[in-house]
Amino acid sequence: MADSTELQEYRTRQTIHAGGEWLEASSGATREIIDPADGRPFAVVAEGDAKDADLAIAAARRAFDEGEWPRTPVAERAALLRRVADLLVRDRERIGLLEARDAGKTVEEGRVDVDCVADAFRYFADLVAGEAPGRVVDAGSADIHSVVVHEPIGVCAMITPWNYPLLQASWKVAPALAAGNTFVIKPSEITPLTTVALVDLLVEAGLPAGVANIVTGPGHSVGARFAEHPDVDLVSFTGGLVSGTKVAEAAAPTVKKVALELGGKNPNVVFADACATDEAFDTAVDQALNAAFIHSGQVCSAGSRLIIEESLRDRFVAEIARRAERIRLGVGTGDGVECGPMVSEQQRAKTEDYVASALAEGAVLRCGGKRPEPSGTRPADGYFYEPTVLDQCHREMRVVREEVFGPVLTVETFRTEDEAVALANDTEYGLAGAVWTADAGRARRVAGRLRHGTIWINDFHPYLPQAEWGGFGKSGTGRELGPAGLAEYRETKHIYQNLAPRPVRWFAG
Ligand code: NAD
Repeated sequence: MADSTELQEYRTRQTIHAGGEWLEASSGATREIIDPADGRPFAVVAEGDAKDADLAIAAARRAFDEGEWPRTPVAERAALLRRVADLLVRDRERIGLLEARDAGKTVEEGRVDVDCVADAFRYFADLVAGEAPGRVVDAGSADIHSVVVHEPIGVCAMITPWNYPLLQASWKVAPALAAGNTFVIKPSEITPLTTVALVDLLVEAGLPAGVANIVTGPGHSVGARFAEHPDVDLVSFTGGLVSGTKVAEAAAPTVKKVALELGGKNPNVVFADACATDEAFDTAVDQALNAAFIHSGQVCSAGSRLIIEESLRDRFVAEIARRAERIRLGVGTGDGVECGPMVSEQQRAKTEDYVASALAEGAVLRCGGKRPEPSGTRPADGYFYEPTVLDQCHREMRVVREEVFGPVLTVETFRTEDEAVALANDTEYGLAGAVWTADAGRARRVAGRLRHGTIWINDFHPYLPQAEWGGFGKSGTGRELGPAGLAEYRETKHIYQNLAPRPVRWFAG
């Protein structure tokens, strides 16, 4: 809820950073940042536009072409990344709270996000520090020295969403800096605060001016300018499918590299043999709840489709609905609160529309489906929505095909393994999915057949900075995290040196 300390901290702040200076928007425009738990503004930021984007891109271009960062030894770059991780740990409470208020999370979720961000910085520091400088290639002759090296790609433009603002930023910023690039970033216009805080920490850690630049502002002006700008060498976008395709279109004429991390419609496939004991049943239900409802389902990898073996359906769905009803919704700083609000009125309205259309198409409401009553920890003007379970769903329903991005779980059933796989793959997306079974052979078979970028067996949601993250199909192109997440931010160059040059005599004259 609104708190005057943070109001003061941000009301006077210039939140555009270009060439080492904190600036207001060139137009003077500002935007109020709303706390989704009570619908009230608690911060004000600069509302940048295409002109501010141009300024920031020019600063990043200069820092790349003329500055020291791309040529800084890898060990020094890694040391700076580690300093950033240490500063994040130092400021864990402050930044965790800011993230919680901005994005509508519990404070504990905000803290965990900061830990994960620090881990990403450490991971990419270790990855570059441990690499060989190049790969020597055997050219088949002692007279030839052939080596493949990696170089930074240049000016990287980053566009990020509102659900994990700082985490998504770190998956781009950490590898981009580790590889020696300069960057411009545009956080979601509704949750920019922790990305501004991150740039502050990068400056404090000693990053040279112009390497890290941020423009707070909307997607249609700042984001679109990033995507089309000829001085940008790569655009890395995380967000929805519609905006992602616009970014790819805008980027195409300049043939810049494009990485897209888009949405998901992620299946959680549960075989009856996974619930043979009461303990196993409890675990599968608990994880299915977590898969669907953490952060009110506003997670790209949310397990929003429960695909369950028919014989287990009644028992499992009754239990998940019973427990979903008991999830304690409230303001993220509230005592005993387990889940915050939705991020905006618009996102809640979209969720309500999906639920209404599902019911009209024949889905059966098992719990939720409405706004909760206000309470001591739940202000009346917060954007809360009850965890909702929709039974008797099928693939023709919009709620099953499209990403809701809200606390809505749909239930579909199967009888055979083939049917389970077919349902789980029946989506235009392909970000993540899980299979629950006690049969190790079946687990591996099904995992091998699922067309999604991450498969969990008897688990849901964990990711590792060491392992690539990204989607098949319309969930995107490219990968974040892992070695491939670093490779995104690099050019590959083959240097072929002839130690004994001689004429080739292809042409007689
Ligand atoms: P969004 O597409 O509305 O916005 C994402 C970002 O793009 C914002 O910064 C926005 O300002 C900007 N943007 C909007 N239009 C633009 C344009 N024409 N040109 C350039 N930039 C533009 O998405 P959102 O609502 O902020 O986030 C939710 C979406 O993000 C969901 O679909 C979710 O699945 C996806 N997401 C994916 C991942 C992943 O790892 N694959 C992670 C988190 C979120």
